This record gives sequence, C-alpha cells and structure tokens, in this order.
Amino acid sequence: MDPSDTLRNKCAACYRQFNRKEHLVEHMRTSYHSVHEPMCGYCGKRCRSFESLREHLIGPLPKAECERVFRDRGCDICLNIFSSRNAVRVHRDTCQLSYGNSGLLHRFASLGIQDDLRIDSGKTKAVALACKMVGGGSDGSLDLCAKVCIIDEYENILFRSYVKPHLPVTHYRYETTGIRPEYLRDAMPLRQVQRKIQDFLCNGEPIWKIRPRGGKARILVGHGLDHDLRCLELEYPAVKTRDTATYPPLMKTSKLSNSLKYLTRAYLGYDIQSGIQDPYEDCVATMRLYRRMRSQPHRNENYPLATDPQNKNNFASWRQSELERMSPDELFAISRSDFYCWCLDSKDYA
Ligand SMILES: [Zn+2]
Ligand SMILES: [Zn+2]
Ligand SMILES: [Zn+2]
Ligand SMILES: [Zn+2]
Repeated sequence: MDPSDTLRNKCAACYRQFNRKEHLVEHMRTSYHSVHEPMCGYCGKRCRSFESLREHLIGPLPKAECERVFRDRGCDICLNIFSSRNAVRVHRDTCQLSYGNSGLLHRFASLGIQDDLRIDSGKTKAVALACKMVGGGSDGSLDLCAKVCIIDEYENILFRSYVKPHLPVTHYRYETTGIRPEYLRDAMPLRQVQRKIQDFLCNGEPIWKIRPRGGKARILVGHGLDHDLRCLELEYPAVKTRDTATYPPLMKTSKLSNSLKYLTRAYLGYDIQSGIQDPYEDCVATMRLYRRMRSQPHRNENYPLATDPQNKNNFASWRQSELERMSPDELFAISRSDFYCWCLDSKDYA
C-alpha cells in the first residue's frame, strides 16, 4: 500500500486511517462526527467525549506533541489550550469554581423552606432539579424522594421542600441526608409536590403540545433525571430535559455515566457530596455544567442533527461512488451529530 493513499483515507475528524476509501466512508456513516464533538486545541482532533480528549492530552498514552503543549498552556478543567502561560493563569481563575461562589445564596439555602413555586412567563428558561432520597421497603433500599430543590440559571432557589412519601420510610439515611422523621411528618405530600413542579415546568403549556423548540415549557437540567422524575412520579418530555448523566460529551469512554461528584471535581474544579448532602448543591453543580456546555463556541451550521429531516438518511442518501470520490474534509463537512449539543439551546436553529 502506498503511504500517500493511506493518508488520503484519514478521517478528517478523529484522524483514524484506513487502507481503503470504502472503509473510511463506512467509518463516517457510523461515527456521526461533527463540530459539536470536543476538540484538541492543538492538533484539532475530534473526540467522542471530554474523557477521551483528556486521555489524548494527559494520558494514559497521550499524543506526545499535544501533551507537551497542553502541559505548557492548557487548562486541566475545561481542557482548552491558550496562547500563553499567562493567559492560562488568568483564565483558570474564572474556570475553577467553588461551592462558596454562590455565597449569599448558599446561606439562604441552609435556611428553611421555600415552597410557593409560582408559574410566571418570566425569563426563567432553564431550571435545575435535584432530590435527596430516603429508604423504603423492608430493607430500606427503595428510593423515596424526601427533599427536592429547583433553582434558576442564576442559582436562585425557586422551590425547596421536604416531601412526605406515600410509603412508610424504613431508613432515613441520616448520615448523608440529614433528614429526621419529624422533618417529614408535616411535609408537603408527594402528590402536591408533583403537581406544583409539573405545572411549573410546563409553564401553562399542555404537556402533549411541548415541542423541542419554542413554546413556554422550561428546559429541565439534572443528573440522572429519569430516576428523580420516577421518584417524584413526574412525567416530562425528554426533548426538554438536559441530563449531565447521559450527555455523550460528559460520559466515560466506556459510555457509562460519570457521577455528579466526579463531574463537578473534573469540570468545575471543586468537591461536593461530602457528609450531609443538600439537593441545592447538586442543582448548582448540574446547572453550572449545563451552562458550561451550552456556552461552547461551536460553529453554526444548518440542520445540526443527523435526525433533522433535511439530513434524512445522512450519508445514506448519497451514492457510495459519490462518497468515495469525496475528500475526507468533504465527508466531514456533510456529517452531522447524533446527539443534541447543548450549545444549540443558545442559538436559534430552525
Ligand atoms: Zn473519525
Ligand atoms: Zn455544539
Ligand atoms: Zn491533539
Ligand atoms: Zn479552563
């Protein structure tokens, strides 16, 4: 095989090389490469997740040249590479957060209850929700929601309440929840909490009418939302949820979820969930992760999703021979993402 041929068959996104053009075409069909994938700031390689970008830059087995540059002027939190060492130092002060950043709000959070969740058509577009669970069932392993919190984008508490479960609590999990039986005795019943939150999220829009874009319904941010929603007996359309546990760029290279504790340490630079835990802390962490992901400066493109009708069949609508005549760059240019990048929440894509 002529080495220049192999070079011609190099994927323009992940730089994998193929002996034959048809293998590169096959690779493109199944890879869904896009401008929304995390990218090495030095060599431009696209990675499926930030974890694989981290491996590329830091290791194990990093790319030697990229590692050298990254060590010199890279930020180990957002994994971006800057123009100088000084630029990284300045940047890092804004990149590394601490729980204390929410300062005053945090102190409010440790005060009582705020359970008058109001529906308004105000500008609260995205909200984060988190729960703390106590145990039910004979062995205490059944999760029952006992405390719930909702915050807005600016980390203000919109709703915070103890919840009285339907079923008897058999284990309060006090060491992590800090919840005592007397806190739940006169707490708001689950049914009432469920209705309040549902109405707030839908924001006057009938649930069956909620569409991915536009409308009044709010974007719901969380970590492991399926579980939280199930425990709250709440239904909310997936097109309006943003889950840091199942967002491909934030998942492990093995495609399993990372814990919120890990994501907060790795991508925000501080520790959570030690000792007694409050759902406010989880809300703040997920909202910050969401906002970071949303603010990524990805290029605007028409019809960014492989599933957009205009991209119907993505590569399948092309003839194999046409695709094999395209250059790797041209193939990458028509490739679209198979996940909804959160940067699209900040853009008005039709
Ligand atoms: Zn590739
Ligand atoms: Zn994006
Ligand atoms: Zn690189
Ligand atoms: Zn950074």
